[in-house]
Amino acid sequence: MSYTTQKNAAKKGIITKEMRVVAAKEKISEEALREMVAKGTVAIPANKNHTCLDPHGIGKDLTTKINVNLGTSRDCLNMEVEMEKVNSAVAMGAESIMDLSSFGDTQKFRRALTAQCPAIIGTVPIYDAIVYYNKDLDKITTQEWLDIVRMHAEDGVDFMTIHCGINKATAERFKQAHRHTNIVSRGGSLIFSWMEMTGNENPFYEHFDDILDICQQYDVTLSLGDACRPGCIEDSGDISQIEELVTLGELTQRAWDKDVQIIIEGPGHMPLDQIEANMRIQQTICKGAPFYVLGPLVTDVAPGYDHITAAIGGAIAATYGASFLCYVTPAEHLRLPTLDDMKEGIIASKIAAHAADIAKGLPGAKEWDYNMSTARKNLDWEGMFDLAIDPEKARRYREESTPEHSDTCTMCGKMCAVRNMNKILGGKNVDVI
Ligand code: SF4
Repeated sequence: MSYTTQKNAAKKGIITKEMRVVAAKEKISEEALREMVAKGTVAIPANKNHTCLDPHGIGKDLTTKINVNLGTSRDCLNMEVEMEKVNSAVAMGAESIMDLSSFGDTQKFRRALTAQCPAIIGTVPIYDAIVYYNKDLDKITTQEWLDIVRMHAEDGVDFMTIHCGINKATAERFKQAHRHTNIVSRGGSLIFSWMEMTGNENPFYEHFDDILDICQQYDVTLSLGDACRPGCIEDSGDISQIEELVTLGELTQRAWDKDVQIIIEGPGHMPLDQIEANMRIQQTICKGAPFYVLGPLVTDVAPGYDHITAAIGGAIAATYGASFLCYVTPAEHLRLPTLDDMKEGIIASKIAAHAADIAKGLPGAKEWDYNMSTARKNLDWEGMFDLAIDPEKARRYREESTPEHSDTCTMCGKMCAVRNMNKILGGKNVDVI
């Protein structure tokens, strides 16, 4: 039996090879996964032209996935350096790479990614249109915006962020609302500016059905962008954010009617006490479509540490419904991330994702922690390094501070509680002097 997209296959009762791989990874039955894909609560981004893809499922009942943003820019044009970052990100466990290239031969890099990289590949065609057409924003035509979407689909991109939620009506409400930090989404600000300068409707909203036809043809998952995501604590949960979310909910159903897989993008900056409610509202308005959050950053005041502000928010968001975390690095709000920034961002996101998976009681999530605590109890340092989320750092820290007795660490020395309890319960005396 033939099918167009993973969702179309699932609705027809077909279990695709991608579903088989994902079900095995998630330790759930293929049939349970097929039902989630058919319903739309799980997306398996898998462009038919991305033949080296190692597929992953994204949905609240599956393990939380993380995305790493990379790509060439005017200040960092070396494709080999960017490809090295891609390889390290995948080796560190990133399930998805978003290519946000904004300078140079972006198609060459994009095609190299879909030819070589097994991670899910995402793009934001709106950024690329600016580079590709290399002309004033207001001179880009509606057809040209759509042509870029088709080009990315042909190049094998698995998911695309499309800022289709900010139409003329939501833009008007945004202008009346006088937000503290306006629009902080790069794509959102570009399309809002284009609409203001041309007086035209958002082409991604007006021609949403044409975009769906392209996505259906290649099985591109649409990530419905949140142009009005709050860019500061003050704007969190405001009328612009919620109004756009309602539009995204309507577009979700239209996409599902054509069997196009959907992910919804979300905040942004958000205080701790609003996160759970926000996740639940998204789940009801968008009927359980996977939620992809850009943080949320729980405070505005920690530049240099926003991987931490985002990990706190991400852990809570993923516990209450988000299924996909966009990593945030210490460089957020400050500069283009270096390789070290990228590593810190990935580790912070992975901690948030795993913490949420434990809280959600997902199969196998606690097992990792159980094994680590067993190694810790046995003072099995090699075992601890092997199980550490960042083995290299764990090993380096131990090596940089050598204890007098190898069965302790330099924190407590002979007063090591673990060592002494093992001794006393093993019938031996405890010597602390
Ligand atoms: S010395 Fe202290 S910190 Fe180090 S392993 Fe023993 S109990 Fe833990």
